[in-house]
Amino acid sequence: MPVINKRLHITGIVQGVGFRPTVFNLAQRHLLKGWVLNNAHGVEIELRGTEQNVQAFIQDLRQNPPPLSVIDSFTVEDASDQAFTEFQIRHSEDDPSDFLPVSPDLNICPDCRRELFDPSDRRYRYPFINCTNCGPRFSIVTGIPYDRPNTSMASFSLCPDCAEEYQDPANRRFHAQPIACPVCGPQVWYEESGQKLAERETALQAARKALAEGKILAVKGLGGFHLVCDAQNPQTVEKLRLRKRRSGKPFALMAFDVDTIKEFARVCPDEEKLLTSPMAPVVLLETTLAGKELARLVAPDQNRLGFMLPYTPLHLLLLEPAEGFPKVLVMTSGNLSEEPIAYSNADAHKRLSQLADGFLLHDRPIHTRIDDSVVSVIEGVPHIQRRARGFAPLPLQISSNAIPTLACGTELKNTFCLVRDRYAFVSHHIGDLENQETLTAFEDAVRHYEKIFRIKPQLLAADMHPDYLANRYARQRAAEENLLLVEVQHHHAHIVSCMADNGLKQHERVIGLAFDGTGFGTDGAIWGGEALLADWKGFQRLCHLEYMPLPGGEAAVRKPARMALSLILQAGIDPDCVPFPFHQALDPEERAAVANQVRTGFNTPKTSSAGRLFDGVAALIGLHQQISYEAQNAIALETIADPDEQSSYDFPLENGQILVSPVIQAIVEDIKQKVAPAVISARFHNGLSACVVNVSQQIRSQTGLRQVALSGGVWQNKTLIRHTITALGESGFDVFWPRKLPTNDGGVSFGQALVALAVSENLKE
Ligand code: ZN
Ligand code: ZN
Ligand code: FE
Repeated sequence: MPVINKRLHITGIVQGVGFRPTVFNLAQRHLLKGWVLNNAHGVEIELRGTEQNVQAFIQDLRQNPPPLSVIDSFTVEDASDQAFTEFQIRHSEDDPSDFLPVSPDLNICPDCRRELFDPSDRRYRYPFINCTNCGPRFSIVTGIPYDRPNTSMASFSLCPDCAEEYQDPANRRFHAQPIACPVCGPQVWYEESGQKLAERETALQAARKALAEGKILAVKGLGGFHLVCDAQNPQTVEKLRLRKRRSGKPFALMAFDVDTIKEFARVCPDEEKLLTSPMAPVVLLETTLAGKELARLVAPDQNRLGFMLPYTPLHLLLLEPAEGFPKVLVMTSGNLSEEPIAYSNADAHKRLSQLADGFLLHDRPIHTRIDDSVVSVIEGVPHIQRRARGFAPLPLQISSNAIPTLACGTELKNTFCLVRDRYAFVSHHIGDLENQETLTAFEDAVRHYEKIFRIKPQLLAADMHPDYLANRYARQRAAEENLLLVEVQHHHAHIVSCMADNGLKQHERVIGLAFDGTGFGTDGAIWGGEALLADWKGFQRLCHLEYMPLPGGEAAVRKPARMALSLILQAGIDPDCVPFPFHQALDPEERAAVANQVRTGFNTPKTSSAGRLFDGVAALIGLHQQISYEAQNAIALETIADPDEQSSYDFPLENGQILVSPVIQAIVEDIKQKVAPAVISARFHNGLSACVVNVSQQIRSQTGLRQVALSGGVWQNKTLIRHTITALGESGFDVFWPRKLPTNDGGVSFGQALVALAVSENLKE
């Protein structure tokens, strides 16, 4: 039978996911000769065999690629006639001009989990068991190509048993770069007061004992340190809040398995799928009656709990169920308040010693710190709220070819975005760029991404805000490297991010509804309740929430009581007509000052922010008068909303403005009538949804556009987005909302990059 040669090129996430062994085994099965290798473009394969066998191989590989791979392109071409004696896995080739996506860190796989608890396995109870299908990736990569010397495992030399597995194409650890075992790999130990008290298994047991006794531990995990304690112990949780200086913000939780989680929260099938997925994020779940007690401690004023499953062998061993051991652990990031998460042993010793009673440490270095991702499921679709471990640094594909570009992102919930060709690498969540530590983390991460993806920016993008730290960085770099810097309006970036996330191209136009906390507007005001007519290149502000005074700026953000009084005064209502709860939070002096600021505008920016409106309304009806984290009052307001209430407040439209004062007047009337806060909250939510539909209909009648893009942090409100999506759909609109990226500021860098590219005419189809 005649023999042919074919060459295959495959690109995408194809390295570090078991591609070459799959190809090797498939070639054996189809009696093919030739070779496979990784290079900087992806995977390259040469096949030699009968036409029938070659075609069968190609079909098999297309239909059943390795489960963790993501194939972007798969091309087959004829190759010159050349004989081979066998099928070989060849050494990696590196072309310094090209780049390759790097796999995110992955949840422990079922095979490794089985071995971990199998007494006859040589890795029985070994906290660093992993294979080609699971384990650390991005967090340990120091360079490319993805080979062991380019990871933080470089200093561990393989024992003969591991070396054999590593070299055996039939073994599921073939070329698993982080491969390790108790003989040759990293180890854990336990410390208290700087003293090493136990090693290996005894260290794990010592840590478990400490947790059961109510101690707070710093535990080194995959992407950094967690502060860990018994979630059902009120004194311990209280102590953790005090030490971490975090008063209200919810803590993430970890339980051994889904059944345990179900004791405290409702888990629908889509949520279970996410919890157990290779990404293994924190999933925000609805609290059950039994979970209420737990929620009071770890997630005050919320009806949701953020749960994740143990995603590393170390976490599985730490949480193993036992008599007297806590069922649920708090697993919050190992940092003080808003600093970045600690990730090296030295860093943890320095920063966490005051916070933790003990340390569970190990000696596998973390090269890139990365937080846990946070996801919620809305209408069966995952909604990413914080995109980090498990997701980053997977690139998004864009519809045009782009020059190398860096977008520096926003101040809060910062991510940056590096673009190259048709790929956009949106970074993992960096944090709030409000201190030197986070800025350093940002700069380090930018450098690392530029190195491993080989991107040298020729264009820069940043927010329009005059003094964000990220903007200063951008301006300085633009000056030093003589690069064009495009400053992008915050909400335009939000909308374009949502567009491209949904595959809409640069010249398509949408009705963009950016409902958000804070964004610097082109008129110098603080925007955040915007209806824009937008494409990638530009936007028109067609309509916005009526400007509200923000007395004292940042002071009113932290103290919604000020916002409530401001809304009352703007609506022409006597602040003493009812005993409003904000009175208790404002002494007469502060009340007078706010009144004066509202009247004169002194130190009082104007804002159209929907986030601030939520804050103020929540304070008006007796929720928090003072908040300790962003969106705390919006979450509290959503939590109490009565799901059965159908009526709504009417937001009138007038000259491109969505009037707020009539709504405040209606709310005050309801307060006077002793209408329950739950009903007022529902009417407010319903009213805002109806208003969005109304605005969209007006714009559709002027422009004929039917596509609506929703973006901005306010859309994290499940009640609001659910109602709005349904109502817009019923009114004949095509509705888009962010899917792969957060709707909050974590998605803005992607939009900034695309706007800058479109404005500077640097996109080619
Ligand atoms: Zn595995
Ligand atoms: Zn070994
Ligand atoms: Fe925003």
